[in-house]
Amino acid sequence: MEKLKIAIQKSGRLSEKSIDLLTECGIKISNGSRKLKTEARNFPMEILFLRDDDIPQYVEKGVADIGILGENEVWEKDKDVEVIEKLGYGNCRLSLAIPKDEKYTGIEYFNNKRVATSYPKILSKYFTEKGINVEIEQLGGSVEITTGIGLADGIFDIVSTGSTLVMNGLKEVEVTMKSEAVLIKNKDMSQAKLEILEQLLFRIRSHQNGQGKKYVLLNAPNEIIPQIVNLLPGMRSPSILPLVNEGWSSVHSVIGDDDFWEVIDELKRIGAEGILVIPIEKMIM
Ligand code: ATP
Ligand code: ZN
Repeated sequence: MEKLKIAIQKSGRLSEKSIDLLTECGIKISNGSRKLKTEARNFPMEILFLRDDDIPQYVEKGVADIGILGENEVWEKDKDVEVIEKLGYGNCRLSLAIPKDEKYTGIEYFNNKRVATSYPKILSKYFTEKGINVEIEQLGGSVEITTGIGLADGIFDIVSTGSTLVMNGLKEVEVTMKSEAVLIKNKDMSQAKLEILEQLLFRIRSHQNGQGKKYVLLNAPNEIIPQIVNLLPGMRSPSILPLVNEGWSSVHSVIGDDDFWEVIDELKRIGAEGILVIPIEKMIM
C-alpha cells in the first residue's frame, strides 16, 4: 500500500508542534524524532525528520510528498512546490532592525548600507522592489550580533517577541512580512497519495475549526431567545430545546475566543442563566 511521506523539522521551533498536529489528527508516531525516518502506526504515512532549510528541496524532488515548515523558508528557498494550508503556529515576522541609537529616517536609510541576513533572496527582492541599493551579508545564523562587531549596519531576520533584538541593542524599524508554519506539497503526486493527503487535510481542518472556539449551553426565558440567537449565531444556528420548566429553553451554540467575554457579559445582562462553557476538540464541517 502507498504511503504518504511527510517531512517535518528534526529539532527546532516547529518540531514539537508539528508532531502535536499529527497526534491531534489521530496519527500515532513511534520512536519520536531521534531517527531520520519513522512510520505512523495507524495511518499510511512515513515521517522524515529533516532540517527545515532542506524541506522545500526534498518536496520539490518528491523524496517527501509533503512537508511542514515556516513560510519564510518556503519563500527563501523558492522551490517549485505548492503551499496548501496555513497551520496557525510558528508565527513570526521578517523585520529590518538597526542599532537602537541610530536615527531611522525611513526605508531610504538603508541606501548603500550593509545588511546581514540568512534570507538573502527575500531581502534582495524586497529592496529591489523599493528601488534601494544595499549590500547583503549572507550568514547562516546569529545575524543579530553583526552590527555590534562592525560587519553590518543593519539586520534582516525573524522576530517574534523582539527580545533578541533588544538584548543585542537593536530596534525593529520595518516589518516586511508575516510568516507561519504551512503545509507544502509536491506538484506531481500519485492519485493514491493525493487521497491520503485529502484524508489528512480533512483531519487538520477539523482540528483547526475547533481551535479558538468554545461550546456554550445556557438556559433562558423564551422571550429573550431571539436576542440570544443574535449573540450566538453558531455554526448554522443555535439549537433550542424546551426545558421542563414552562416558558424556558436551553440554548446550545458555538462561540469564538476573540469576543468570548463580551458575548458572555451580554448574555448575562439580558437574562441568560446556568451558562456552561465547554472546550471543543474537533469540529467537522
Ligand atoms: P534547522 O536546524 O531545522 O535549520 P533553524 O535554526 O533554521 O532550524 P528554528 O529556529 O528552529 O530554525 O525555526 C524554525 C522556524 O520556526 C523558522 O523558520 C520560523 O518559521 C519559525 N520561528 C522562528 N522563530 C520563531 C519564534 N521565535 N517563534 C515562533 N516561530 C518561530
Ligand atoms: Zn533552518
